[in-house]
Amino acid sequence: MQDNLSQALERDVRMANDANCFALSEATDGAAQEGQSVFGVILGTGVGGGLVVEKQILNGLNGVAGEWGHNPLPWALEGERPGQPCYCGQSGCIETFLSGPALARTFENICGTKIDSKEIPNLPDDITDPVFLIYENRLARALASVINLFDPDVIVLGGGVSNVDRWYQTVPDLWTRWVFGKECDTKLVKAKHGDSSGVRGAAWLWPATS
Ligand SMILES: [Zn+2]
Repeated sequence: MQDNLSQALERDVRMANDANCFALSEATDGAAQEGQSVFGVILGTGVGGGLVVEKQILNGLNGVAGEWGHNPLPWALEGERPGQPCYCGQSGCIETFLSGPALARTFENICGTKIDSKEIPNLPDDITDPVFLIYENRLARALASVINLFDPDVIVLGGGVSNVDRWYQTVPDLWTRWVFGKECDTKLVKAKHGDSSGVRGAAWLWPATS
């Protein structure tokens, strides 16, 4: 598509998906700018991921590098398999456990109430605690699998579900259980530029030096 657009517009065109743009924005001048290698995650309506090395998106041969949301949730616990069907055709994808709608579904299973996931962080701790314990354990397992594969300096979270402040303490405390060697200095940080990071990252596809 990039080549077709480039031909039609008679100019160079650069394109990347929203998660890659998000990761690039945060790795370039956002919360992950100190990291040479960065994994950016959007925990929103869906779950997307993007890999950035030395301020460059790692696209991969097939253009799917970082699409960790459609790997199965690792170290599955009893009751997590086969998991919910995913739009991608598989079941039990990380996205089906960690997206905003997935958090709302976990909340409904535990608390018996339907609620928009955006409202959950504003509820009292005693209500959210059992739900967050389940969610953060899943997030820690899913991110440990990224650390074992890519071992980034920084993992940065964006999207609606990233606005739960406790993740940044609880998830790194948990993930060492599954990180090979049990030692892990990887930083987990919240996006600096919030919802603007996608658009900002698209602009950063044209670095100031080029
Ligand atoms: Zn999927």
